[in-house]
Amino acid sequence: MLICEHCATSYTTETPRWRCDCGGTLKLEISACFDIAAFQERAMNLWRYVEALPVPAADAVSLGEGLTPLLPLTGPWGNAHFKLDFMMPTGSFKDRGSAVMISQLKRWGLTEIIEDSSGNAGASIAAYSARANIDAHIFIPASTSVSKAMQIALYGAKPTKISGTREDTIAAALEAAQSIFYASHSWSPYFIHGVKTLAFELWEQLNFRAPDAVIVPVGNGSLVLGCHTGFRELLHAGLIERLPRIIAVQAARCAPLARAWQQWMNDPVPVNKETSIADGIAIATPVRGRAVLAAVRETNGLFVTVEENEILEGLKALASAGLYVEPTSAVAPAALAKLRAEGGLGANDTVVVELTGSGLKTTDKLIEFFES
Ligand SMILES: *Cc1c(COP(=O)(O)O)cnc(C)c1O
Ligand SMILES: [Zn+2]
Repeated sequence: MLICEHCATSYTTETPRWRCDCGGTLKLEISACFDIAAFQERAMNLWRYVEALPVPAADAVSLGEGLTPLLPLTGPWGNAHFKLDFMMPTGSFKDRGSAVMISQLKRWGLTEIIEDSSGNAGASIAAYSARANIDAHIFIPASTSVSKAMQIALYGAKPTKISGTREDTIAAALEAAQSIFYASHSWSPYFIHGVKTLAFELWEQLNFRAPDAVIVPVGNGSLVLGCHTGFRELLHAGLIERLPRIIAVQAARCAPLARAWQQWMNDPVPVNKETSIADGIAIATPVRGRAVLAAVRETNGLFVTVEENEILEGLKALASAGLYVEPTSAVAPAALAKLRAEGGLGANDTVVVELTGSGLKTTDKLIEFFES
């Protein structure tokens, strides 16, 4: 059942739909089950948790995504476990969401879709669309890294470059979505049910325990909502004792959610957005912002902002440990280093840092910062 988060109207999952007639975001309610003995026998990808997914295994459009390594590492951030989600088929965690979302779009019989993205979601949706034989039109900001634009084009999708801000790209996609289905990763509730497999994997990899805290970057908030949904389902099934704290990180230069949090607001606040090296999370108007703020609050979590120099420091610290990520991903270790310095986390807490995207896709941007 698809339920509007604004007016509570419900819709069947039998027909394609990405938002409520009132314009509200949709939530997908399913009853998640976990058969530990059964899934441990299955292939090492996220479809092993199929009893907790909204799509049957037979309909899975898959590139073998999931079960990325969880690596314990000591550094300026203290001790933490790093989830290497940049080791996904298209180089970012977005593949979790795309795999489940595109599987559902295929079940709905769609053959042509539109998406807008700052790069990674577009590349991911382009790849899964190729796998599913769906025609994808991807709208990207003209400033998108050349490697991501190339990746989208090679998958056979049609990247359309839009000049101006990320918001201008969204507006152009919405306009085009009047005639073609809008397969938006920020609107689709199926995308969140794909991202929630991150919670299941952490639980399995930590020997069937929840961590004390999970640190994730947040732009639109699919990681926050995915972790929240996944851990709640585990809690509900009696498999964990409490929800881990979700620590959500934004770049100080574009922080509509973190600012709202500081001001005790329930909705994202308007911000004067400046360009940030963390371009993957520079989202001024997150459509599910209200739900993201509520999710962090429910886990007794918090929001942290990081400055540009802290992001670059985080990136360098990770690289000196052997991990090459994109600047957007580096906000998470940067925030952890800051929290440790302020005593904001227990020294013995099990902390997971989600590493979202590969540095290999942003080398053209990194050169601007490190070689100029
Ligand atoms: C999309 C993305 C994020 C943020 O995910 P949201 O769902 O927008 O919060 C973080 N890091 C990378 C590399 C991304 O591509
Ligand atoms: Zn509604």
